[in-house]
Amino acid sequence: MARSYVREARRRTGPRRARIGLIVERLASEHPDAVIALRFRDEIELLVSVMLSAQTTDVTVNRVTERLFQKYRRPEDYLAVPLEELEQDVKPTGTFRQKAKNIRGAMAMLLQEHGGRVPTRLDELIRLPGVGRKTANVVAAERGATQGIVVDTHVRRLSQRLGLTREDDPAKIERDLQRIVPREDWARFPHLLIWHGRRVCIARSPHCEDCVLADLCPSSRI
Ligand code: SF4
Repeated sequence: MARSYVREARRRTGPRRARIGLIVERLASEHPDAVIALRFRDEIELLVSVMLSAQTTDVTVNRVTERLFQKYRRPEDYLAVPLEELEQDVKPTGTFRQKAKNIRGAMAMLLQEHGGRVPTRLDELIRLPGVGRKTANVVAAERGATQGIVVDTHVRRLSQRLGLTREDDPAKIERDLQRIVPREDWARFPHLLIWHGRRVCIARSPHCEDCVLADLCPSSRI
């Protein structure tokens, strides 16, 4: 299905590179508030928030971290309590046993190998337990060290609908996006797609009639 999106995009709206500038420009003006929705005050809170956000909503994570970050302020704090206690503290975010174990593993590695700081290099971030490419990309970008493009469920869906990729695998989608999105837009581009995906290009029923990209989109229903 994604394959036909790309062909249709070329036929109706021209090559991807020619459209990307307009897509970024229009989404930036439509969603000037498109920034990360997670709440954090420092690099440790950023890392923990993003790790907790897997398979749940940012609203749930923010509700949990509001109390969590009162109790756990430094990497050592996560290692000072029994694992079961941390599990209970992150339970509402789901898959809490795995998340608690990964957070403790990541904090231990930060202390052992990075002096308690969160690294900004993607290859170092990805070595932390429970940190995949998406989490690493989010953390690096929020710390001003963007090295890739975050591909979450919204970015994947919109990139396919807009005919920017024919791939399904997040790593391959990221590679396609890196080829066409100007490097200076790598950090904000996913936020623009995420907020457009939440507000307009909804998964089940996209509001194409209200979409500023309708004339650029091969999947437009109008
Ligand atoms: S035109 Fe429709 S399918 Fe295309 S991006 Fe807009 S809402 Fe999504």
